[in-house]
Amino acid sequence: MTDKTADVIVVGGGVVGLWTAYHLAQQGVRTLLLEQFSYPHTRGSSHGQTRITRTSYSEPEYAALMPEAFQRWKDLQDEAGKELYINTGLLTVYDFVKKKEEFYSMLDNLSTHKVNHYVVPGESLSQSFPGLSFPAHCKGIFDADSGILLADQCTTALRHLITRRGVDLHEGEPVLSIKPINSKKVIVKTSKASYSSASVVLTCGAYINKLLETVNLKIPVQPVRVELTYWKDKSPEKKYSALNKFPCVLVAESPYYYSTPSHEYPGLIKISYHGGTPCDPDSRDHLTPDTARESKQNMEFIKDKVRSTFPDADASQPAITEMCMFSETPDSNFALDFHPKYKNIVIGAGFSGHGFKTSPSVGHILANMALSQQSAYSLESFSLKRFDTSSKL
Ligand SMILES: Cc1cc2nc3c(=O)[nH]c(=O)nc-3n(C[C@H](O)[C@H](O)[C@H](O)COP(=O)(O)OP(=O)(O)OC[C@H]3O[C@@H](n4cnc5c(N)ncnc54)[C@H](O)[C@@H]3O)c2cc1C
Repeated sequence: MTDKTADVIVVGGGVVGLWTAYHLAQQGVRTLLLEQFSYPHTRGSSHGQTRITRTSYSEPEYAALMPEAFQRWKDLQDEAGKELYINTGLLTVYDFVKKKEEFYSMLDNLSTHKVNHYVVPGESLSQSFPGLSFPAHCKGIFDADSGILLADQCTTALRHLITRRGVDLHEGEPVLSIKPINSKKVIVKTSKASYSSASVVLTCGAYINKLLETVNLKIPVQPVRVELTYWKDKSPEKKYSALNKFPCVLVAESPYYYSTPSHEYPGLIKISYHGGTPCDPDSRDHLTPDTARESKQNMEFIKDKVRSTFPDADASQPAITEMCMFSETPDSNFALDFHPKYKNIVIGAGFSGHGFKTSPSVGHILANMALSQQSAYSLESFSLKRFDTSSKL
């Protein structure tokens, strides 16, 4: 028996599901948001203190998402009445021999979107940003308007805002299955009840395939266990602090690595690489002999980068290691699409470790899809058609 109805049910209350519910509520849609864990929790992708946000990307489809996203983060900050964004600037460093094209593509996008930026030649990088060391064949682009989002504060503010706007938010209520009835009705069964709605949006992060299985679909999204590492700043003047205007740094190698200045843990700088080891989200921290070996190698990789690029950080071992998850697609592009058979099942997944900053725009896209409305963005790059989607339909 179905207990309750909503116009749209959003499954998964991470940052993407929260922004989706926000946009639905903005349009006066009766929205039920179901999250399997009680807040706060650390078993998804959106928890933690900080995320880098930037005004642009080198890929135009992502660059296009940023103006709306940036504005909405600022609006959320105003509405919450507390700091959610810290403008530190972002230095992106390219190996000018191997990544010349990416460098120029980023410059083009920054100019197209009229972003305040300048180029820093390799030989002046250390002088301009004390505490950094790069070979002379590197070149940097400093984007002055980028910075860090205070992730936990952002999601907390969003939860308060959407519930004030009428979203029915149930935490600690896992969705067990989805059953499409027809083009205007879907039944959602949870551990506590059954609900019906005209459409559902699945924003389940690394858990997405567990739920898609119940509607005979599997998409190539690999859950990845990520170790996030903080390192001690050895410099007496605390060079790596946000208070000393140290920027976010992104080194465009493969895999790329990045840092955010000391803020959440004074005296510690977050320096991590983009990647991790495959996992089952239900037992994220269980390592097999293979993943344990891989994880050890990854730690050596990042220690090496800390040593060479951040000479004033103590590279002997991380001071703090925290766990998180990515949901990686084969091309690292998002997966935003309808279920191939049921147009009232909308999928927002595969954010591949870069979905926090764009989530206000992505939530807008997903809300529009759930309401069969056109999106202002080109969705071609995010389509499921690019995958060999295994479906038993
Ligand atoms: C270490 C790390 C660093 C990152 N750095 C950046 C960065 O600097 N900039 C950036 O833009 N992005 C960054 N990201 C990526 C970004 O944080 C993620 O892309 C984003 O948080 C994904 O949000 P989500 O809502 O899709 O997933 P999640 O936050 O995982 O939310 C999904 C939610 O769905 C719930 N759920 C799943 N299944 C069910 C079910 N059956 N029933 C009910 N609920 C369910 C889960 O419990 C979870 O809460 C980083 C990620 C990590 C891990």
